Amino acid sequence: MRMMELGKTGEQISVLGQGTWGLKRRKPKEYYDQWKNSLRRGIELGLNHIDTAEVYGFGVAEKIVGEVIAEYKRDDLFITTKLSPMHFRHEGSKKAAYKSLKRLGLKSVDLYLIHFKTPLVSIKKQMKILEELANEGKTRYIGVSNYSVEQFNEGQSYLKKYELVNNQIRAHLLYQIHIKESLPYYQKEEITMTAYSPLGHRGFTDLTGEIRVKLETIAKKHNATIQQIAIAWLINHDNVITIPKAFQTKHVESNAEAVEIILSKEEIDYLSTN
Ligand code: NAP
Repeated sequence: MRMMELGKTGEQISVLGQGTWGLKRRKPKEYYDQWKNSLRRGIELGLNHIDTAEVYGFGVAEKIVGEVIAEYKRDDLFITTKLSPMHFRHEGSKKAAYKSLKRLGLKSVDLYLIHFKTPLVSIKKQMKILEELANEGKTRYIGVSNYSVEQFNEGQSYLKKYELVNNQIRAHLLYQIHIKESLPYYQKEEITMTAYSPLGHRGFTDLTGEIRVKLETIAKKHNATIQQIAIAWLINHDNVITIPKAFQTKHVESNAEAVEIILSKEEIDYLSTN
């Protein structure tokens, strides 16, 4: 598995992780067994960075992730979860974070993110919670998600002791704005950008038009699928890691193979103009 330094931490993180949005509650046992098998297969293939959040499946995603990761050595995994900023009260947020850890069966996660920015709770308050969680040893690193560069910098300005090492943000071939406009800043400052929904949330199965033609052209050259090229396009950018979600084990396997694909500058540029 190709690894990348997380921010300036010295910590190595796999460029490809596994997403868990879409893991639903109130499903039959076979459904959760399938999810677990796919997560296990991903870990076996080196996708040991698992991304979850307290809101995914109303806590069920964290619980299923917790059951899977209990089978592995803690140090071999990198676990990210996200705190919803909608708890409003400081103590409510802290309690929610502790509940996440309990569902995951962990004393601490590797990376705690604030899930998104809301005008209802200030960035300063969100940073205070992250700082306290880090002080208490509940997380090794902290970051944010869905923040603009300006909001990211505002957040950092409130933190004396810690650096925000990551912004997890939507980025894929049909939504390139953050790759074009924010990534140069994160590269300069050595901050890791996690591209979420790398396959446009629905797997790019219904992709049409010019971008499909472009993907097919590159995919043919690399003997790959269009989804593998879409993933490769993201992680061929410096400072970018990504976290595709795959319920089907064959998708996990295919995604893991995408890590090996090295695109030329011309190929990256060709896909980047749309
Ligand atoms: P995504 O990864 O862009 O796409 C998931 C879809 O792609 C699923 O339908 C999946 O099918 C399909 N797929 C996966 N690998 C494939 C392959 N090799 N070939 C064909 N189809 C494939 O969608 P996402 O869930 O929106 O994003 C990924 C993760 O990012 C989430 O799970 C979550 O962890 C994170 N995320 C974070 C935020 C945030 O606000 N921070 C927001 C959205 C997402 P199967 O499931 O049937 O295998």
